[in-house]
Order: sequence, then structure tokens, then C-alpha cells
Amino acid sequence: MNLLKNMKLSTKTAITISAMLIVIFIILIIFTIVSTGNAIRTGVNNELRSMSKSNGLQVQRVMDVTQSTSKDIESYMEKQYTKQKQQLGFNQSQSAEGSTSVIYNIPISNSNSDIEKYITETARNAAVNNPDIMGVGVMFEPYKFDKNIESYAFYVSETDKDNEIHPYGTYLYYSKQGYYAKTIQEKEMVFTKPYKCHGVMVVTASAPIIYNDEIKGAIMSDLKISNFSKLETKNECYPSLYTTIIDQNGLLVYDSKASKHTGKNMSQYYSEDEWQQVANKMKKAKPFSMEMTYKGKKEAAFFYPIKAGNTNWWSLMEVEDKDINQKINPTILGLLTISIVALIMIVIATITVLRKMLNPLQNVTKAATEIAKGNFDIYIPVSSKDEIGQLSKSFIYMAKNIKNIQEQLVMKNEQLEETIDKLEKSDAANSAKDIFITNISHEFRTPITLILSTIQLFQMNMINSINEEKANKHLKIMKQNCYRLLRIVNNLIDISRAEAGFNALNVKNIDVVELVSDIAMSISEYAIEKNISVQFITDRKKLEVKIDPDKMERVLLNLLSNSIKFTPVGGEIMIHLFSQDASFIISVKDTGIGIPDDKKDLIFDRFHQVDTTYTRMNEGSGIGLSLVKAFIEMQGGTIDVYSKLGKGSEFIIKLPILVTANEENNQSIRLSKYDEKNIEKLDIEFSDIYIH
Ligand code: ADP
Repeated sequence: MNLLKNMKLSTKTAITISAMLIVIFIILIIFTIVSTGNAIRTGVNNELRSMSKSNGLQVQRVMDVTQSTSKDIESYMEKQYTKQKQQLGFNQSQSAEGSTSVIYNIPISNSNSDIEKYITETARNAAVNNPDIMGVGVMFEPYKFDKNIESYAFYVSETDKDNEIHPYGTYLYYSKQGYYAKTIQEKEMVFTKPYKCHGVMVVTASAPIIYNDEIKGAIMSDLKISNFSKLETKNECYPSLYTTIIDQNGLLVYDSKASKHTGKNMSQYYSEDEWQQVANKMKKAKPFSMEMTYKGKKEAAFFYPIKAGNTNWWSLMEVEDKDINQKINPTILGLLTISIVALIMIVIATITVLRKMLNPLQNVTKAATEIAKGNFDIYIPVSSKDEIGQLSKSFIYMAKNIKNIQEQLVMKNEQLEETIDKLEKSDAANSAKDIFITNISHEFRTPITLILSTIQLFQMNMINSINEEKANKHLKIMKQNCYRLLRIVNNLIDISRAEAGFNALNVKNIDVVELVSDIAMSISEYAIEKNISVQFITDRKKLEVKIDPDKMERVLLNLLSNSIKFTPVGGEIMIHLFSQDASFIISVKDTGIGIPDDKKDLIFDRFHQVDTTYTRMNEGSGIGLSLVKAFIEMQGGTIDVYSKLGKGSEFIIKLPILVTANEENNQSIRLSKYDEKNIEKLDIEFSDIYIH
């Protein structure tokens, strides 16, 4: 049952329909075989019945000869006697003698002589011309044939020559013969049992001669039993077939197979029960058939009655069942073979057609499995317009729709993710901005507080008559803090401009060796303050490149102010300048506190500082390096940092060596000139670093 559940629909349907077909077919086959068997059996029975009948009729004809001969004699005698009476009446004479009996050679009446002639000729006719009759005898009661003859009897044998007629003994002799005595007594035709006469088995049929209700005598025919062999006793189809003739009591008159059975009673060969049934059926004197068992073998027996005087004889035909079956079996076998072949063909055709019909359904199932797996690019071959074809089409349509919906969903999802990402980013940016604003506010607060407190001190000192030295000191503090504020504000403005793209480059051909050297020198005051040595090393005396000198200044001042800021007292700062291929490189290296690895990438970000608490110690807005990076990149360069915590940091700038054609702009503002403006620039950039 489980096996059937797991099967494909097409297989399941094919098996079910095939099983049903097989059952129906088997029923049909059984029905056909049974009815065909019955029909053949009926046919065989009819054939055998008609053979039995034809045998019966043949025997009947022999019987009828004897009877008709006696009837002929009777009617001839009647005719003669009537004629004689008329003549007697006319002549008044009792007898009209004058003739002689040809048998006894004594005088008899003329009419009796005529009768004698007629009887002898008829008897001879029957004996000679009828092969079934061996001889015919005619016997009369004493003086019943002629008043001159007491015992009148003669016998004509089939072999007797013409005119040769023998008397048949005395009345004393023949009246004692059973067949004669019985005929006279019963006034009916009688038969003897079969007996041997001159070495031939015969049956004697004896019919009475009655005139005016008076028994005159009897006519008897000896019937040769051997002549019954002309009966149908053999048949190719039924080798076991045999024919018998029995009398009403079952006495075997003729047996086609075993002549030794002749004269015996048939009842002795069958069981009592069976024979009783036969005897009962024979009483009805109608044809019948019966299943009988002879020597343990089943056989069919066909009985046909033969009218023989008061009683019946029976023509009997027996065939063993196996012969009948042999006639039926080949037909049944043929039928069975044809049926099985037809069944196999129908089953194969059913399976093929069903497979063909249901295969598209399998394709739909496969497609459904693919869809379940998430593959919507399905292909179902559609060749029919029936329900399965429509289903396949609907499936393809459905898969396409699902695919569209899925694509839309994916798109929407991506959009949503983007939005979330943006929101998260803007959220992060917002919080970074918040931190930045807090930091910047703090940056602003410190110098403002310092300026304010200095002003307050100034006021107090003013009241207490201020001395010049003190006044200068307060003013210096206020000035430096104003620079700090200015630096922050400048940086803010510059970074905003750079980001907005407003910070235009103002490039000139500059001797970068001179520029870097000037700047290195300009910071010496701050370096000395912290006891930091500053070295500038270069392999070039002069290197003219196309750069924006202001922006380069800001970059270098920023890097150097950071180096001084983050390098403890007694440290070192080394500035390298060298060219490499088509680029020149400026490296600012210090022996400062260094930058943690995870922060190296962040220091160039606008809103990031490495460590708030730490930075607080050193001041700073945290936007200097982002501006540096922006300025370098504006000029087509790169900036990298190499640093080890506690050991120091190195910032490396790489810029392309370019030269502008316009030499007019070659004038640059030199920090080394220490004019008012440049000193202020330096003060502003280094405003975080205190000089006492
Ligand atoms: P600020 O303007 O506050 O100095 P910067 O953008 O210039 O900000 O520097 C960002 C941060 O990078 C600093 O706060 C500091 O923590 C770190 N930093 C920059 N230069 C150095 C250096 N030479 N040595 C150690 N840390 C440095």
C-alpha cells in the first residue's frame, strides 16, 4: 500500500486501470470460456444425439420390414378371402379346389394357391432383397391356411434359389417355439433374444397374421445382428465412441466394440443406482442422454428409442468424456491464448496512453518542485489544449508572476536597506557632529575663559595701578587665546570651503627646498621652548615645483605643530625632502607619543580625535589633519602615517613634480621674511603651544 502511495500519479493510475482491466477481462474470459465450452458441449451432444438417432432409425427400418411384410400378407389374405366369399355366394360352392400347394404338393383351393404364391414371393422378396434379413418364415395355426393342411409353415432363406421353398416342420414343432407361441398369445410383434443360428447371431422378429380378429398364424424374420455394423460405430473425433442396441430390459442385442457382450444385460456393467436411473428414463420411451461411469471412466450416453411391437429397443451411443473434452480443449486453449494476448496488448496500450497523457502532469510537478526550491525560471513543454495543458500554462504564468513579485521585493528590500544605511549613517554623522560640536564648544570655551579671566585680572590691576610688565603678560595671554580661536575658526572655514569645493588652488612655481627650510626654521622658537631638536635633511639644493604655497605652508605648520605638541621635552623632529621619480616626498618624523594602530585611519577624519581626554591635555580642535589631507589631495598628492605608540610618528606627503609655464607668479611669500602677516600665521598655527 505504501509502495502505491509513493508512486508517480501516472504509474498509479496505469496500475489501477490495468488491474481493473485485468479483473474485467478475467471475468469476461471465464464467462466466454464457460459459455463457449457449454456451446461446444451442446454441439457435441447434439452431434452424438443425432448419430444415436440415425442408428436408431436404421434399426427401426429393419424392424419395420418384418412388420410391413406381415401387414402385406394380412391385407392380401383379406382381399383374397373377400373375393372368395363373393365367388362362393355366386357359385354356392364351398371350395373351389383344383390347385396344388407348391410347398406340400397337395390340392388346395385356388384362392389359397394365390395366397400361397403371394406369401412365398413376399417372403422371398424380403429375405433376398433385404440384406438385414437372413430368412423369412411363415407359419399358420392348424388348418387355418387351408382346410386340407394341418401344419402349414415354410421358410425362405436369403441363399435359397428361386422356386426353392422348404416346409418348416409340423405344428407340433413350431407351436412350441417361443417367438411363435408368444406372438399367437399376445397378438403383437415379438422379438427373441439374440441367438446363434447356423453360426450367425440373429434376432428373430415375429409378427402375427390376423384376419377378422382371428389369429391365423405368424410371420417371422431372422435379423442378422452382424448387419448392425453398418450403423455408425466409429468416429475420428471420438475414438472411444461405441454403439449398442439394447432391448427395454437392457439386454444387449448388438455391441459395436465387444460382440461377446451380445445377449448379456447391460445393467451388469453399471452401478445399480445408475442403471435404475436409465431404466426409469427408458420407461418414458423418449430420447435421452445421461452421464454414466463405465469401468471408472466418465462417459456420455445417448439413448434413442426404436419401436418394436409392444416394447422398445434402444439405440445407444456412448463416448468417453475425455474425447468430448479433447474437442472442447483446443478451442478453449486458443480462446485463452487470444484473450491473454489481447489483454497484454490492452494493458500496454493503456499504460502507454496514460503515460503520454499524464507526463505533462509530471512536468508540472517538476516545475512545482523547482518553484518550491526558489527557481522561477521554469520551462514546461505544452503540447495539448486539455486541462493539463491549461494547468501547465497557468503554472508558467504563475511562476512568471511570482518571479516579478520576487524581483520587486528584492528591489524594495535593497531600497529599504539603502534607506536604513543612510539613516544609520546620518545618525552616526549626527552623533559625530554632536561630539564635534561639544569638542569645538570646549575648544572655544577654553580660550574665551582665559581671555575673560585675563580681562578681569586686567581690570583689577588697572584699579591697583597696573605695571607694564604685567599688562603685557595679560595682553599676550589674551592675544594667544584669540589666535587659538582664530585658528579654530579658520580651520572650520577652510574645511567647509574645501568640502564645498570653494577652496580654489592658487598654484605657483616654488622652490620647495627653500619653502620647507624656511618653515622648519620658523618654528625653532617653539622647538627650543620644549627642548626639541628640529632637523631638515634634503638631497636637493633646489626643487621647483608647481604648488599652492599657502596651502603647503598650512600643511607643514600643522604637521610640525602636532609634532611639537605630541613630542615630549627633549625629543626630536626630522624633516626629509627628496625626489622620487616624478614625485617629491616630504616626511615629518618625530619621537613623540605615537598613534594607536586602530586610530591611524581615523585621524584624517573631520570629526575624529584619537583620544578626547588625551587631546584635551594638548588642546586642539581635531580638524587639522583632515584639512591637511584635503589640501594635499587638492594638489594631486597623498598623505600617509606610520606610527608606533610611545616611539613616534611619521607623516609622509607625496606630490607630483609639476612646473607651470607662467614664471610671473613665481614670487612667493616667505615665512622667513617674518613680516607681520607671516608671524601672525605662525602664531595662529602654533597657538596651542605655550611659550613662556
Ligand atoms: P588638532 O587640530 O586638534 O591638533 P589634528 O587633526 O591636527 O588635530 O590631529 C588629530 C589628532 O591626531 C591629534 O589630536 C592627535 O591625537 C593625533 N596626532 C596628530 N599628530 C600627531 C603626532 N605627531 N604625534 C602623536 N599624535 C598625533
